Formats: sequence, structure tokens, C-alpha cells
Amino acid sequence: MIREILTYPDKRLAIECEDIGEITDEIRELAADMVETMYDADGIGLAAPQVGANCRLIVVDVSGPETRNDLRTYVNPRFEMLEGEVETEEGCLSVPALRSKVTRAEKIRLYAKDLEGNDVCIDADGLLSICLQHEIDHLDGTLFIDRISRLKRTLYDNKVKKWLKRKK
Ligand code: ZN
Repeated sequence: MIREILTYPDKRLAIECEDIGEITDEIRELAADMVETMYDADGIGLAAPQVGANCRLIVVDVSGPETRNDLRTYVNPRFEMLEGEVETEEGCLSVPALRSKVTRAEKIRLYAKDLEGNDVCIDADGLLSICLQHEIDHLDGTLFIDRISRLKRTLYDNKVKKWLKRKK
């Protein structure tokens, strides 16, 4: 089932999410819905808080856009290693109409669980590394606009205020 993607400045995007204890059917259903929602929105990653769920679950697939064959679902991901520095342009399904350069680690190592509860260790660089860092940020209530320059952030905030006024 496709779920609604929350957009900034929804407060639920700023909450620090809780670890998942047992991987229940409900969690598996949430993961399946997140995958469907991500593909439907042509995204490469989605974190649980973006669909209003307060738990540490992310889905990513940086393949495509034509074929989608690198789906990864991670429960309670945490960084084991962050190395180097790289600046790339990012966007976010929860932050409409903005792309901006963000500086992040170049290479990462993650520990997480898969949906079967197995421990997994992931080494990533390139787009996958960036995408995983972006999604894990969501679990801590951080959006990529929290990492851009103050000037760009203010311009974006003003734009969002105008949109919200128009909606009323
Ligand atoms: Zn995002």
C-alpha cells in the first residue's frame, strides 16, 4: 500500500526514532509499503519517519531509474565507520522543490539487521554511501536542509512559508 509522504515542515520529520525490538508482521508490512511508496515516488531511499512511523527502518535502491534491482531494507542501522569527505547534490521526497550540495563522509561501514533479523555489515561508497547517510539522518530527525548553508536554508524556509499561506 502506498503511504503518504510527510513533507517539511511537518514536525514528525524532526523526531528521533526508536530502535525496533522484535521484527513483527507490522514492521514487515511497513517495510513493504515503504518500498512501494519509494518506487511510486521515483525515490532512491525512504526512511520510516517519512511515512509517519517512529522507528529505525530504511529502504534504499540506488539502481535504476529504469530497472530497480538493488533493494536493501535495513533495521536499526548504525555507523561503524565514516571516512573521507565528499560533496554531492541531494534532494529529498520530504523536501519538495529543492536540491542542494551537502558534505558527507565518502565511505561508510554500517551494521544493521535485515527483515529476517540477521546481522548484516555493509561497506558503501559513492551514491549508496550518500543515500544511506541521508536516510539514517531521517531516523535522527535530521533533514538535508539542516546541513546546508544558513542563507540557502532561509531562502527555502521563506518559500515554504509562502506555499503554506497559499494553501490556507
Ligand atoms: Zn530524505
